[in-house]
Amino acid sequence: MKVYKFGGASVKDAAGIRNLSNIVSKSEDNLVIVVSAFGKTTNSLQNVLKLWLAGEEAYKIFLDEIYKYHLSVSAELFTDLKTADKIDIYFDRLRVYLQSKRKGLYDFEYDQIVSYGEIWSTIIVAEYLKTVFSDVEWIDIRENLITDGRFRDANVLWNESSGRLLQKIDFKKNRIYVTQGFIAGTVAGQTTTLGREGSDYSAAILANILDAECVMVWKDVPGIMNSDPKWLDDAQKLDEISYREAVEMTFSGAKVIHPKTIKPLHNKNIALYVRSFLNPAEQGTVIKSDATLKKILPVYIKKEDQILISILPKDFSFVIGDNLSRIFHSFMVHGIKVNLVEASAISLDVCVDDERPKVDALIADLKTEFSVVYNENVEMLSVRHYTSESIARITSGREILLEQRTRSTVRFVVRQI
Ligand code: ASP
Ligand code: MG
Repeated sequence: MKVYKFGGASVKDAAGIRNLSNIVSKSEDNLVIVVSAFGKTTNSLQNVLKLWLAGEEAYKIFLDEIYKYHLSVSAELFTDLKTADKIDIYFDRLRVYLQSKRKGLYDFEYDQIVSYGEIWSTIIVAEYLKTVFSDVEWIDIRENLITDGRFRDANVLWNESSGRLLQKIDFKKNRIYVTQGFIAGTVAGQTTTLGREGSDYSAAILANILDAECVMVWKDVPGIMNSDPKWLDDAQKLDEISYREAVEMTFSGAKVIHPKTIKPLHNKNIALYVRSFLNPAEQGTVIKSDATLKKILPVYIKKEDQILISILPKDFSFVIGDNLSRIFHSFMVHGIKVNLVEASAISLDVCVDDERPKVDALIADLKTEFSVVYNENVEMLSVRHYTSESIARITSGREILLEQRTRSTVRFVVRQI
């Protein structure tokens, strides 16, 4: 069996869903199809959440827009109202939830509310595929992919999930299963999410558990490029890369796939294909164990909206040692991922995503024991397989606040000047 994953851009309208169906029709394999929310629905739902939490009734206007969007896609695809009725049930459920007015913690409410995007999208996709193929089943992944209760960044409970999924997905009953990316559930039945853009990770988890032959991620780019074409205009497609290369790239901030995607695939040696849903006959990029870089190109990665935090012990003691474990414990407690660390005798520089208010809470916490200074609005630039020209190219016109080199990668924390 294979796992196909379609992101929001591929299912933003009725034409996208017809295109998805065409891509599926080219395959005779058993398939699990993982789908994200339509277009920018996750962002729109985040907005609804924000207004609702602030007690602003205007959330209803925005929710209604999302509702009309889904109805119009469904009206274009179906002649009867069966699918619209199904969608209605879940919109009503969310409306009732929002009216109940018992507001819990942000991360918890986020998952209960924002997760609906994937429910609506997959209902419409599955209903459409049922009009084309005879053996399609929709699965509510919240009952089958089980996580702990760390809302917005849930950890998969592998044994529990694998027991349920292997029972639920039976290719003797159906050839095509359609389910949601990004979302999951706890044993107690509460909805969780795996982090923004987490549908790739969902696809990888399912592939691992179901022993897939491969995962195909269908995107609006030709494959994985050696830089973001919106940043550097001579971006080139990489035909194949190793798991290691892919992990390093996503860790440095390459947005092409979610960073957590690689590990479950590597562990079972499952190849990941990144292909264009606009040109499905083209080859794309494959990530696999025995990949060879045919020609070594520098790979450029930019991570924006960073904050560089410098932590110094107040008493001039060395930062390494006890201090180090205390400092990183704080990062963990506040749920902040470290993108780069550089230590000297009495100072530790750490670059992280500028996620407020989490970062403010971390800084306040660190300040109880250390001196803390920080630079906001900085970028982290990385070049893998760097050359002197490639470095000059990306650092010119920027003030370098920090530089770190290994044999294969150079990283800069920079500010525009
Ligand atoms: N819909 C979610 C998001 O936009 C998950 C995903 O697209 O992977 O973050
Ligand atoms: Mg998305």
